[in-house]
Amino acid sequence: MTTTPADGPLDDEPFDDEPTLAPATLAVTSGRPRVEPNQPMSVPVVMSSTFVSSDEQPRPGDLGYGRWGNPTWTALEEAIGVLEGGRALSFSAGMAAVSAVLALVPLGGTVVIPVGAYSGTTQLARQLEASGHLKLREVQVSDTDAVAEALDGADLLLIESPTNPLLEVADLPALAAASRAAGTLMAVDNTFATPLLQRPLELGAHLSIHSATKYLNGHSDVLLGLVVTSEDQLAERLHGHRTLAGSIPGSWEAWLVLRGLRTLALRVERAGANAAELARRLVDHPAVDRVRHPSLPTDPGRQRALEQMNGFGAIVAIEVAGGVEAAERVCSATRLWVHTTSLGGVESTLERRRRYPTESLAVPETLLRLSVGIEDVEDLWRDLDAALRAT
Ligand SMILES: *Cc1c(COP(=O)(O)O)cnc(C)c1O
Repeated sequence: MTTTPADGPLDDEPFDDEPTLAPATLAVTSGRPRVEPNQPMSVPVVMSSTFVSSDEQPRPGDLGYGRWGNPTWTALEEAIGVLEGGRALSFSAGMAAVSAVLALVPLGGTVVIPVGAYSGTTQLARQLEASGHLKLREVQVSDTDAVAEALDGADLLLIESPTNPLLEVADLPALAAASRAAGTLMAVDNTFATPLLQRPLELGAHLSIHSATKYLNGHSDVLLGLVVTSEDQLAERLHGHRTLAGSIPGSWEAWLVLRGLRTLALRVERAGANAAELARRLVDHPAVDRVRHPSLPTDPGRQRALEQMNGFGAIVAIEVAGGVEAAERVCSATRLWVHTTSLGGVESTLERRRRYPTESLAVPETLLRLSVGIEDVEDLWRDLDAALRAT
């Protein structure tokens, strides 16, 4: 289970005699100082740009300069590494994590990405294509055969599941097998699921990516990204990239994400239950044309989600009847739901994604992405129902 250099101050295996602890427990126990007299309960925020050298040559585990490592990052990385089953590296934002993964592709290499995934990832990949760094193939991730076909000669498959904001579910074990057969690296953006609902490395992916800005932190007050990999050689390359690109997180941000992680299980459970209940009610709403959430019996992603996830997540997408103006009016009519971008916080938020010209044209104009929080579900329903009825 050890996932980071062994001689740090941390104790990621508090119960060596227990074979496995449940993820909800590991979210609480991992990345903590050793449980022994006078150790702090919580890892400190280490604010230092440099670390005192040993008199000999640098040894493995030496921190050296502040861009190479930091004990607060190490604590967070250890915790996420334990939860995802690999070695984790933290970055300044989710996009820095995505950039680091794209930087694994050799110049002129081919990358397979989904049609209609997180727009930042798509835009970055397209920019890199425009500047001649790589070639792109865009695929429908729910169409396993189409993805497998696109892997021929590809260097990287970079997907999300469920996708943002269409909530399409990819067959991760099948795609992992196809990637390995094709000699293609497979990275899964696991932001929507969190390691509590889905563990891409266990399903066969080489890399799992997080915008920790979202659920892992969970309080809408930090930007941070993570990449987790089961392969030491990839971890070394990602570390080298982060060190030289300088895409490092702040220690305070890393500490906040670790603090948020302690309640991840509670938040994911409550928000997921709220989301499933709201999705169920929205299906019959006269002002809603379509509801997307894998919990719904009619959702195309449901069966796969049941097979590879431990829950359905807390993002719901609805298409508002009555057109773009009606959809916009819903966003300005809610009082409890906040009209804003981003997602994964304790607060419920909503947004019409196509208000951005950069959003994928695969996303319907009237689609609202709902990030369901942990408030009382009846309060959420009353507010959303009233806003929908006012359109
Ligand atoms: C937000 C998001 C990102 C980007 O993360 P930042 O922390 O905003 O840089 C990447 N992928 C997904 C799925 C996201 O939702």
